[in-house]
Amino acid sequence: MMQMLMTTDPIRQVASRDDEDDMWLYSRYLEELKHRFPESSSHIIGYSENGVPIFGFAFGSGPATVSLVAGAHADEPVGPNTLYRLILEMHQTPDKFASLFSRFRFLVIPHVNPDGDAANASWITRWPELTPFLTGMKREIPGRDIEFGYPDMRPENRAATGFWEREEPADIHFNLHGMQFSEGYLLLINDEWEEGSRGWRKQFDAAMRKEGLEPHDHDRGGEKGFNYMGPGFTSTPKGRAMKEFFLEKKDPETASRFHLSSMEFHLGRKPEALCVVTEFPLFTVSSSDRIGVPENYLELKRELEKITGQKCPEEEEVNRLISRYNIQPLPLGKAMRLQRLTIRLAMDFADGYLGNSL
Ligand SMILES: [Zn+2]
Repeated sequence: MMQMLMTTDPIRQVASRDDEDDMWLYSRYLEELKHRFPESSSHIIGYSENGVPIFGFAFGSGPATVSLVAGAHADEPVGPNTLYRLILEMHQTPDKFASLFSRFRFLVIPHVNPDGDAANASWITRWPELTPFLTGMKREIPGRDIEFGYPDMRPENRAATGFWEREEPADIHFNLHGMQFSEGYLLLINDEWEEGSRGWRKQFDAAMRKEGLEPHDHDRGGEKGFNYMGPGFTSTPKGRAMKEFFLEKKDPETASRFHLSSMEFHLGRKPEALCVVTEFPLFTVSSSDRIGVPENYLELKRELEKITGQKCPEEEEVNRLISRYNIQPLPLGKAMRLQRLTIRLAMDFADGYLGNSL
């Protein structure tokens, strides 16, 4: 049955694939590291719960520190793929990065959640097929969620904080995430930079539209600490606000499962840091017309609740969803390019500020 779905999934048929569109699992990355980076084991910063090594790399010796981390959420493999590629490039062609390395020190954790990656292998290896994704996608629940486990909820959190604490506090913290579905791009920026980033956000919006992505426009009214900054932008999540949200709902048990996010951890070390969380989708859906309400996205989410986790959703039903919501994969090569573009644009933006203060 799965074989049949694999060959008939319409997304599979329309998606063009090349090498760049191949998702890498952590296991493949480890092999590549060993092969191309013989000293890599000296960069192990800790181990996952299942005993898989977690790597942290430092490049450059500039006065400003840039942190890059990916993979916190198990079902968001584009961020780790972006950082795998970046690390291999930085290691193999350091000359290309010489100017950046003289101005910045990069701290890169390509995957903070290798166990989550392994748990999602069934669909990651078959992406961009939709059916394996719907049946095989796994995500950690609160209390297991690494993003809200700082500084020390899980061994993965302890590995990251230990690595960061051995270095100067980050001036910029990039946290590469993703969404399963969205109506376009979504970028999260810490509240402290809401005002300072207004002009830059216009430039970022123009750059995304040029790439064919509209903003994912979702005004959550400050719920769970997500403050709306206009179409395509919202504030970074806060474990403290999540805690309060569940306490107000008289659910102290869930509230106790939220600790700090990595952004709160970095802001605790340097309150003026810029934190940027990328949220590009695996699949785009058609845009809605209403300001602040992504109606198509919300309706699809409601529909998916009924079928996600089912062993084998009806092929007809999956096809209906694809055409009803115009579900399209965002090709991996393009998604990685957008992640890199975001990092570059945000660094150019912050560099102005850093340049003035250094
Ligand atoms: Zn995420």
